[in-house]
Parts: sequence; structure tokens; C-alpha cells
Amino acid sequence: MTAGHAAQGAGTARPLLNRRLAGFGTTIFAEMSALAQRTGAINLGQGFPDTDGPESVREAAVRALRDGRGNQYPPGPGIPELRTAVAEHQRRFYGLEFDPDTEVLVTAGATEALAAALLALVEPGDEVIALEPYYDSYAACIALAGGTRVPVTLRPSGDTFRLDLDELRDAVTDRTRLILLNTPHNPTGTVLGRDELAAVAELCVERGLLAVTDEVYEHMVFEGEHLPLVSFPGMRERTVTISSAGKTFSFTGWKVGWVTGTPELVTAVRSAKQYLTYVSAGPFQYAVAEALALPDAHYRELNTGLRARRDLLADGLRSAGFGVFRTAGTYFLTADIRTLPGQDGKEGRGAADGVAFCLALPERCGVVAVPTQVFYDHEAAGAPYVRFAFCKREDVLREAAERLRAGR
Ligand SMILES: *Cc1c(COP(=O)(O)O)cnc(C)c1O
Repeated sequence: MTAGHAAQGAGTARPLLNRRLAGFGTTIFAEMSALAQRTGAINLGQGFPDTDGPESVREAAVRALRDGRGNQYPPGPGIPELRTAVAEHQRRFYGLEFDPDTEVLVTAGATEALAAALLALVEPGDEVIALEPYYDSYAACIALAGGTRVPVTLRPSGDTFRLDLDELRDAVTDRTRLILLNTPHNPTGTVLGRDELAAVAELCVERGLLAVTDEVYEHMVFEGEHLPLVSFPGMRERTVTISSAGKTFSFTGWKVGWVTGTPELVTAVRSAKQYLTYVSAGPFQYAVAEALALPDAHYRELNTGLRARRDLLADGLRSAGFGVFRTAGTYFLTADIRTLPGQDGKEGRGAADGVAFCLALPERCGVVAVPTQVFYDHEAAGAPYVRFAFCKREDVLREAAERLRAGR
């Protein structure tokens, strides 16, 4: 009997793992993290900040814990203070109106919001369009919902990755239920512009599609601006918008996220959410309510601090010989390894293989990165790219760049 099979009497071993999750059993991230630990490498693989968010917000969580606020089950939709703060945030930054009582739902991070939205809105047989490369939980949640994912590939164009609107239009069929849109986009750093979003909106309206938008990097835009898809004509009644306090305030361990949308959409998402976690993060909800009200200076400083670190790592990667794509938003830089010696496929050498490259990198250079290929269905399209996170301290980024330069 192998580890993946349960004994069920003679000759009838069946895989332990539900077939919807087959292929999602282990991820490269587990392997990379183990490698990082074993080799003591600098981990630029996973996208979490190595410094915590504002002290005042941390203190707000401590106060809530001590005062006994949120230590027992908070209300199912989230505490009123946080729902009000979310509605106020949508008004302040985007001029959007949401009713905190019926149009806001607090979730266990954006991850649960995505899972609940997909489980609530997708029927077996429905097709879900997602931009490829995609965040790893999308594929698993679409599969859990019984849906079929239809990737639309962001194509390299100059030093950025672009959405091909014709390709997107061609991907829509009579079975398409929704478009799962992530902007600013992890891992490519692409921020969709007004014209692109207008075209996506038109397509949704024309074909009667829902949209689920993953906007966890809404405050990490370095070029252009973040525009919520829901603000485009015809989208208010068909868009589920998802955000994350973990990303916006650098407390990724708190797992506080939220959904905004019409009462009908929010009720649907809540129907699934209530049987996943029911509620979560009681005291942290109070702290995030305070965080959302932080002055503009907080949001500005988060942005300028990250932009400086993006530039620092991009320069470091370039001087280590990588091709570096321009990142307009998020925590991530995508690098092309084909400009490195031994990766260009010339003179009998193998073609660039980001997976092999990233598996060897911790031993060779003492740095961990993630092969972008794992975010693709069309794996060949992602083979030459690797993703580095720059949401780390400047000295850490400098040291990583130095190691990459020395060890290439
Ligand atoms: C980090 C991330 C999430 C998950 O957010 P949490 O609030 O930590 O659950 C979702 N989508 C994308 C694109 C992310 O990068």
C-alpha cells in the first residue's frame, strides 16, 4: 500500500484524496520552504513581509484581546465596526457606496473569500476564466466547486505581461459562468488599465457573466492606478470584490479579508462561507477596523517603501544577469532566466527550466525563488520565469542580490 491509498479490503484500494483535489496534494512551496530551512537560504519565495505592520494596529489587537472584544464568536457577517470601516474605505478610495449591513462580508483572509465565492457561484460543468499565471488557490477552488478552469495567458510584451483582449473574448463560451480577475496581478506585477478593464466589463455585460475580482494588492500600485472592476458600467450588480487586510496592513498571519457586492451576491458567498469557518479572527477584526481608518500617509508610505524595495531588487537581479520584467504593482518581480549563462538553450545546453533552476538555487546561491511555471496550465509558457518577492527588509534584499551575483 502506498501512502496515497487506503486499505479497503482485498483489491479495492482507492486514492485517499478526493478526486477533485487530485494533483493538488503537495505544492512546490512545501518543497522550497524545506529547502530554504535546510540550506539557510534567504526566502524570497513566499510573499509575506518580514516586518510587521503599524504598531498602533498591533496595539489595537492587544487591546481588543484584553478587553474581551472578539474572544467569542463574532457575528457571522463580521463585526459591524469592521463592515462600516470597509464601506468607508470603498467610498474614500474609489467613491463606491456599499451598505455595511447587507453588502459587506468579513472572511478568513482573501483565501476564504475566493473559496466561498467560487463554491457559491460555480456549478459542476461551469467554466471559470482566470488569468494565467494564476494564484495557486484558484485552480484548487475551481476544482472543488466542480468547475472547469479556462486559463487566459498573460503574454510577455517588451518588459511587461499583457492581457490579450481577443484571447479573453475567444475564451468565453456558453458554459462560462464567471471571470476571476486579479489586478494588480500576482505573479506578473501587471496592473490592468482603464481600457482593458472597460473591455472586460463590456464582455461580462454582453455575455451575462459574473466577475470575481481579487484586489488584495489594491494599495501596492507603483505605476498607474488601481481601478476596481465593479466601478465600470454594468458591473455593480455582477461583481464580487475581494480584499485582504493581511496584504494591505502587513499582517498576513491574521487572515482578515472581506467581500463587497450586492446583497444577493454577498448572501450567496456567505452561504458557503458560514460552513467553511463560520467566523474567524475576532479580536483582529477590531484592529483591522482601526487600521482601515489610518490616514492617507500610511497608505502612501506603504507604497513608497515597497516601490523602493522593488527598485532595489530589480537592480540587483539585473546586475546578477537576469532579465527583469517591470512590476507595476504587488510584492513580486518576475525574472527571465534565459539571459543567464547555461540557461539560454544555445550551444547544446538545455532550454531554460525555472523549476530545475529554483530547486538548485538555494544550494548554489543561498536564495529561494518560485518557478512561475507552477502557476500555469500551459507550463511551457512559464518555463523561463521565476518569481522573487521584494516585501522584505532592504538589507535582506541587498544580501540576496549579492549572493545571486556571486553565485551565478
Ligand atoms: C496573498 C494572496 C491572497 C490571499 O490573501 P489572504 O488574505 O492572505 O488570504 C489572495 N490572492 C492573491 C493574488 C494573493 O497574492
